[in-house]
Amino acid sequence: MQNTVQNYDVVVVGGGPVGLATGWQAAERGHRTLVLDRYGFFDERGGTSGAERHWRLQYTQEDLFRLTLAARPLWHRLEHLAERTLIHHIGSLWFGDVDVDTNEGRIADTARVMDKLDVGYEWLGAREIERRYGFTALPDHYEGFMQPDGGTIDVRGTIAALYGLGQRAGCEFRSGERVLALEPDADGVTVRTGRQEYRAAKVVLAAGGHTNDLLGPLGAELDVKLYEMPLVSLRRRDERADFPFWFVFQQPTDEDTNLFYGFGRNPWSPGDLVRLGTVFEVNPLDHADRATGLPDPRHVGRVGEWVARHVPALDPTPVHTSACLAALPGDPGRQFHLGPVGHLVPHGEHIVVYSAGWGFKFVPLLGQICVDLAVDGRTAHDISRLSPSALREARP
Ligand SMILES: Cc1cc2nc3c(=O)[nH]c(=O)nc-3n(C[C@H](O)[C@H](O)[C@H](O)COP(=O)(O)OP(=O)(O)OC[C@H]3O[C@@H](n4cnc5c(N)ncnc54)[C@H](O)[C@@H]3O)c2cc1C
Repeated sequence: MQNTVQNYDVVVVGGGPVGLATGWQAAERGHRTLVLDRYGFFDERGGTSGAERHWRLQYTQEDLFRLTLAARPLWHRLEHLAERTLIHHIGSLWFGDVDVDTNEGRIADTARVMDKLDVGYEWLGAREIERRYGFTALPDHYEGFMQPDGGTIDVRGTIAALYGLGQRAGCEFRSGERVLALEPDADGVTVRTGRQEYRAAKVVLAAGGHTNDLLGPLGAELDVKLYEMPLVSLRRRDERADFPFWFVFQQPTDEDTNLFYGFGRNPWSPGDLVRLGTVFEVNPLDHADRATGLPDPRHVGRVGEWVARHVPALDPTPVHTSACLAALPGDPGRQFHLGPVGHLVPHGEHIVVYSAGWGFKFVPLLGQICVDLAVDGRTAHDISRLSPSALREARP
């Protein structure tokens, strides 16, 4: 252990995509910035494994919808600076039971928000969805929409772009360095790792499913639920078959939330496999370290069953499977915990937290907001509903 304390304007705990986006933008604004990760920066043990994520504008909640609209120009800027395409606009198809309430939102209500915000989409019935996209045997009452701006995000390309731009901006990165404790006081925060002690004016805590490891000892535990969700690769039977991103909204069964999704071919890595998954909020983990990286075989089986019934262009036998750790807020309507935690822990105004939710589509915006909050103490974006809320808290 070295004894000299190193000083930074901003220390970011967690080098997943949100931490990298924060580190890059803090350094770009001229702040002395350090990003620490317990593993490596391209590690897949956090909440970001797999090659792709869904990009969508639409949200049922208008404030979140406005945040995706705000994220869009930041993605364009990131793509421009990194000189590569990161969002591929293959479209976003939502269909199924239009009034069912899910963590993803509700179809009918979302269409109303698209009307209000003047975002274009096409409304489709079950037979038209089958005819255009190759699904079969959909229940007659299934309906939905195609939103053409939606699509798929290149996860590894984004991480490489953020890391490269961060390096160029002078951000320091240290991998293999786990933060063991945060000690906020009147002037800033002491950050203790297994190797070193740092002093930061502000800390951005972007540790994904591990956020409570560091907030818990301060007396506040965020209302976050942890699930391992399957990533399932299936082979296309016909090489011409392709899909937009699709998500099917269905009534829950007695055993699970009955929600399935899938991607088309990855434009950046062509092949005959496509990736599908479930959003089953069952069997929550009591700690992120309990994640195995292995999917529940029953959930993989449910993907195969749904595909066998409704997607004839795919072979339902999985070629690859894995699992990714999803951190979701206890209250699905809020989606995120985002903001300083001065209302939860003593001197928590020096710690800005981002955790939970389907956050990849917001990555450059989340980085910007975390820097706004850490450096300026405010942001122009409406995140009033997202302020971190705890199961228990220790107010000063
Ligand atoms: C199956 C699945 C599908 C998803 N689909 C979508 C989607 O389609 N669209 C979408 O927008 N979002 C989606 N998401 C969510 C999205 O992937 C995540 O919100 C996002 O990747 C999380 O990034 P992050 O940087 O916040 O966290 P993470 O990637 O989890 O990064 C946290 C980092 O913190 C590090 N860390 C933890 N504790 C410490 C510590 N004490 N000291 C130092 N480092 C530490 C970890 O090593 C890790 O690298 C999905 C998630 C899952 C699981």
